[in-house]
Amino acid sequence: MNREWLEKDFYKELGISSSATQDEVKKAYRKLARDLHPDKNPGDVKAEERFKAVSEAHAVLSDPEKRKEYDEARRLFASGGFGRGGFSPGGGYAGQGGFSEFNLGDIFGGAAAAGDGGLGDLLGGLFNRGGAGTRASSRPRRGSDVETETTLGFREAAQGVTVPLRMTSPSPCTTCHGSGAKLGTSPRVCPHCNGTGVISRNQGAFGFSEPCDDCRGTGSIIDDPCSDCRGTGIQNRTRTITVRIPPGVRDGQRIRLAGQGEAGLRGAPAGDLYVTVHVSQDKVFGRNGDDLTLVLPVSYAELVLGTTVSVPTLDGRVGVKVPPGTADGRTLRVRGRGVPKRGGGAGDLLVTVKVAVPQKLDDNASEALRRYAEAEKASGFDPRAGWAGA
Ligand SMILES: [Zn+2]
Ligand SMILES: [Zn+2]
Repeated sequence: MNREWLEKDFYKELGISSSATQDEVKKAYRKLARDLHPDKNPGDVKAEERFKAVSEAHAVLSDPEKRKEYDEARRLFASGGFGRGGFSPGGGYAGQGGFSEFNLGDIFGGAAAAGDGGLGDLLGGLFNRGGAGTRASSRPRRGSDVETETTLGFREAAQGVTVPLRMTSPSPCTTCHGSGAKLGTSPRVCPHCNGTGVISRNQGAFGFSEPCDDCRGTGSIIDDPCSDCRGTGIQNRTRTITVRIPPGVRDGQRIRLAGQGEAGLRGAPAGDLYVTVHVSQDKVFGRNGDDLTLVLPVSYAELVLGTTVSVPTLDGRVGVKVPPGTADGRTLRVRGRGVPKRGGGAGDLLVTVKVAVPQKLDDNASEALRRYAEAEKASGFDPRAGWAGA
């Protein structure tokens, strides 16, 4: 039995009534899981949260035995059947063995191999272990996730770059190597809870587990705390980590780096690092998704007669052919010379031609242009033919 359940309405989570059949539970879950799947909503934290909540709800409701337990516990809870013994929503304990600490990325890694249907089972299994069972509760707490930001140059962001990030965050204490115990000593198993970190309490028909007071749910007691970290196993340290930013990141994108967040308490796994990337503007290039854009200044004569212009790309230069008679403002596409895409290939380079009008001409050029204007008129060209009712 997991007391976190009582704080949650799994039926509401799946949008079904409490009398829904097992088939309806499955159907509701399938649909929500599809819509909310992180692959479909990259970077959408809300969708990810919902996805976890829905998966948790399904893990309980799809198992007839767990569902029965859940229904009964909720009925009792609603009628005030439990006295003290404490349901403390938001209490420190709830997060410890809770579902929220699982690394979603890892779960998906495993689930991909299991194929359709595997995900629910897998999450169900994790949920079981993540509940108030004795094993999970004695697990040291995973480190928190850390948020940071970095600003990249336009080209760095497009091509990918390795950047150093300076961060001050809790790290394992170097003196006690994260154990929290003074050097030469080690933590001992908590005798009150036998190292499980939880004390079971029976309330009528239901057994509930609570974190052990003596060891605060850690399962171990430190007699001689390390003086450098006061027994926490953690020190604040400024560290510089080198982070590989993949090619093609966009301004404002948030990247997750697994295991690069805060150190866990007493040797538990580290949290994740989230880096929000800001991308500065470039003088030449712009971006439109995976396409790289640029404005190419040309002369009127070049547009009329056609030419080939050497144009910069992210990777060397390329000759862009402007066909004779190209209209001002037209965009020419150079395939595959844009921003690298995740998983290979690249977008296109979009070159927009723009006439540069000379502000001053020498006598020779002015005279030639005047002669040209007359010849143009004589040839029958009228720039405003058919324009504005003319
Ligand atoms: Zn220490
Ligand atoms: Zn204990």
